[in-house]
Amino acid sequence: MSTSAQYDDIESLHTRVIDWFDAQARDLPWRRDPRPWPVMVSEFMLQQTPVVRVVPVFEAWMTRWPTPAALAADSSGEAVRRWGRLGYPRRALRLHAAATAIVEQHGGEVPPRRADLLALPGVGDYTASAIASFAFGDRQVVLDTNVRRVFARIVGGRQFPADAVTAAERSLAHDLLPPRDADRWAAATMELGAVVCSARSPTCAVCPVTDLCRWRAAGYPAHEGPARRGQAWAGTDRQCRGRLLAVLRDADGPVPAQEFRDVWADDTQRERCLDSLLDDGLAHLGANGSLVL
Ligand code: SF4
Repeated sequence: MSTSAQYDDIESLHTRVIDWFDAQARDLPWRRDPRPWPVMVSEFMLQQTPVVRVVPVFEAWMTRWPTPAALAADSSGEAVRRWGRLGYPRRALRLHAAATAIVEQHGGEVPPRRADLLALPGVGDYTASAIASFAFGDRQVVLDTNVRRVFARIVGGRQFPADAVTAAERSLAHDLLPPRDADRWAAATMELGAVVCSARSPTCAVCPVTDLCRWRAAGYPAHEGPARRGQAWAGTDRQCRGRLLAVLRDADGPVPAQEFRDVWADDTQRERCLDSLLDDGLAHLGANGSLVL
């Protein structure tokens, strides 16, 4: 991939993408209230789940748990229950553990330092950078799949980035950081990838940087790497775990083991998935082999 030193019009790129964002950004609750805690909760929820599904759950969480202390004071089972159908429910447990650590180690305030954020349960490189940037205005590279695709197209002239983040990509992203407004640049490039430069059907006609995009200028050459992986779902352990967890979420108390047969017929797979829910701490054993959140 090219470096920004070879990219012709970096200032125009910054200005146009940020101006577009200021005018067009979606009105999202964590943007209306960009305090550290709402930003942190939104970043956990958005890791694997689209915005439209996250918004109602996020708003319910903020009403019930407006601070880390409020979440930490409730049970982790309640966090899983109110995670609803966002998927990957271990995120709820990690967020609960992170809230507990924030109360115990940081006086109940999300810490501003990236190193402290990284030490929290469930906070990896991307999430720490996103919180530092969006909540604290830090100058951070925030490299999610949308941003990676946008940079690959505009600067790299390619349809898609590599499967995993490369050192060259990270270096390019550093070079592309504007001297000011790096937090808005991070949010703007992410938004551009989410709503305009989508993976399958980019809407170049409304893109603010159409004439600066190398992939478009090259005539949209097709991706040359291995076929991109789709996410299989039907019949997988993930689907099975989701069904089992929904039974637990909807129940008022312990659920007898035989009730799970109705939602998943394959005995071996069902038992394996129930075991994994217990192992992950998403379910607990009740009396007589029943399960409870
Ligand atoms: Fe994406 Fe099209 Fe804009 Fe290039 S011109 S960044 S492909 S939306």
